Amino acid sequence: MPFIYKAMKLGKKGKADAKNRLYLNKLFTKLGIDYCERCGSRIRLTFAHRFTRQHCNTVDEMRHVARICLKCHMEIEGTPTMTEEVDRLIDSRDDRMTQAA
Ligand SMILES: [Zn+2]
Repeated sequence: MPFIYKAMKLGKKGKADAKNRLYLNKLFTKLGIDYCERCGSRIRLTFAHRFTRQHCNTVDEMRHVARICLKCHMEIEGTPTMTEEVDRLIDSRDDRMTQAA
């Protein structure tokens, strides 16, 4: 069992989420999105989901997820325009990135 799972003492869903984040981290980094898609920061990156997290566990996910920093995430999380904003970030990506996935 990878160290991160043990260290975080996660339940079944938490483990799935952690695994998912590792996968997304690798995928986004591979595609060159190693920065906040909203402000460009490289500090404390998170993933903002357009829908609930349960919808996201395949390679198609990156079309439903934006990589944003914690600061931006906190600014948009729970706001009425969050879905819109995440959509806008995803739509403004270079096509090469999404095709490579
Ligand atoms: Zn940001």
